[in-house]
Amino acid sequence: AQERYAGLRDKPATDRAGTEIKLYMNAGLMADLPSLAGSGAEGVGLFRTELQFLVRTKVPRRSELAALYGRVMDAAKGKPVVFRTLDIGSDKVVPFMKPQDEPNPAMGWRALRLGLDKPGVMKMQAQALIRAANGRPLQVMFPFVTQFEEFVQARDLVLAQVAREREMGHVLPEKVEIGAMLETPSLAYAPRQFFELADFISIGGNDLKQFFFAADRENERVRRRYDTLNCSYLRFIDMIVKRCEEAGTPVSFCGEDAGRPVEAICLAAIGLRTLSMRPASIGPVKHLIRRVDLGELRQVIDAAGREGQQSVRAAVMAWLASGAA
Ligand code: PEP
Ligand code: MG
Repeated sequence: AQERYAGLRDKPATDRAGTEIKLYMNAGLMADLPSLAGSGAEGVGLFRTELQFLVRTKVPRRSELAALYGRVMDAAKGKPVVFRTLDIGSDKVVPFMKPQDEPNPAMGWRALRLGLDKPGVMKMQAQALIRAANGRPLQVMFPFVTQFEEFVQARDLVLAQVAREREMGHVLPEKVEIGAMLETPSLAYAPRQFFELADFISIGGNDLKQFFFAADRENERVRRRYDTLNCSYLRFIDMIVKRCEEAGTPVSFCGEDAGRPVEAICLAAIGLRTLSMRPASIGPVKHLIRRVDLGELRQVIDAAGREGQQSVRAAVMAWLASGAA
């Protein structure tokens, strides 16, 4: 299937009207990095750092992490890489942490909550990232930010490590950009100041959808029950995109839905200009974007919403079948 889209690799994901969508890839292991060149991705929109922790029995040392993150940046050859700080707890169990007996782990002590309550690992991770950047730009983002204050605290923690590294005479990154994942509905309603302070925002659709519909992403009985193209959910994402635009903050979408071509064009139609997905999805998503007019699709989506449709899927499929693509 990859070969089928090979001819598209160096072409932009531009729709018929000339709107360009930037396609990035998600990664988490060194083994993923060769796909960066092969897929034609603009960079790594989400580097899940916890994967390194999940495969070890002990907490990795700072020097090991710095070497690893440095190799990731080397492999990216100047393309941007967004490093997400540790997202553990819930479904992601690390061997060196006592499993928490929580009634509802997805809503429990996880990700940034854990990172802020036990900041040692996050500090070490920040130091490793700063050293790995070694004069190159650094982009860091936090998982599972639920309220503004958590973002402020986490950001301060990273900036304090930058100051510490400066005092120690280490080379600092060329610039440090600090962003948040928006994956809890509460953050969509955070004060304007949050949207202004964040250097960038990435919508984590896997978690956002689970919490929006109150449907566990791990539970086979319910995980496919609600359509991503549900009008309520698209309206919600539309609001998030508008709030980011008002603040002048770049916004992307990095959940699995970004890699599904029909979902991807709908996300682009409601205003997302950057999507991050598994490398194998880049070809198929680019292929479909290049065949449609996103402005026209936006009208199809809005009309389905006005008619009171539950999901825009039927309308979008009919539009595609009628020769729109
Ligand atoms: C998400 O929640 O959409 C996301 C990208 O993060 P993860 O799947 O690692 O929770
Ligand atoms: Mg998530």
